Amino acid sequence: MMNLNGLNIPSLALSAFERHIASGTFPHSSLIVGADEEKLLEVARFLSAALVCENDGAPCGQCPNCLKSEKNVHPDIRTVSPREKRKSVNMDECREMVMDSYVLPNEAQRKVYIVTSAQTLDEKVQNAMLKILEEPPQYVYFILLCTNPSAMLSTVMSRVSVFNVGNETETEDETARGIALNIIDALMKINEIDLIRATVPLDRDRQLVKKTMECFKGFVNASLRARQGFGEDSTDMASRFTGEELMNLNSGADEIISACDRNANEKLLITLISALFRRAIGG
Ligand SMILES: [Zn+2]
Repeated sequence: MMNLNGLNIPSLALSAFERHIASGTFPHSSLIVGADEEKLLEVARFLSAALVCENDGAPCGQCPNCLKSEKNVHPDIRTVSPREKRKSVNMDECREMVMDSYVLPNEAQRKVYIVTSAQTLDEKVQNAMLKILEEPPQYVYFILLCTNPSAMLSTVMSRVSVFNVGNETETEDETARGIALNIIDALMKINEIDLIRATVPLDRDRQLVKKTMECFKGFVNASLRARQGFGEDSTDMASRFTGEELMNLNSGADEIISACDRNANEKLLITLISALFRRAIGG
């Protein structure tokens, strides 16, 4: 896998990869987002090969580093995945990775850790990675693969460079849905900290704010219908909120969508989300 052809990578990510590789400025901590885990792993393998290859036009595909990367046996490229039948990397595996990252590379000048399914890392494990993601040893690169960035702590998100390699609409829809559900969860618990946390991924992305609000309205409308005895209420909002509160939430989302259409500043949008929702539920 010595090129990214055929993987259908959005041009934005592709040109960023090319630029970083050519100039030797690939970020030490990155988060690669997409819906397809296999594709994420292929992208990560390509980037790892490019990072350990020392020739021009890396990955050159010819040098010993490239050949070992291609066969997946390079000692300086580690894939960190949950062991046995567990579904996420646990604290022991995380600590092991951190310790290992302080050991100099074996054969290449650099060392790469690919962390798969980062969206499944629990809060403790994500917290345990913060320091190393912030200040990795000079020769170390962490590539986190993630299908749902809204599952990542904001403190992790602020320490990694994010590259979106998914089919653009598909990934966006998934992300918007995840954020909408996190917002609903925070509203049901009336937990403002969670609400703020849920909106962090919306920072600087007006399109995503709009999509998230559209998704949110979909859930609210389903709950409204459920209150009238039609259809299912997947979020349970029908039993938590009164009809009036649900209507307020719905019009709050409408206001945010029209603010997006008026090109309101993204920071303002986030503030608007918290304010409108607090008002809607009488908080
Ligand atoms: Zn090479």
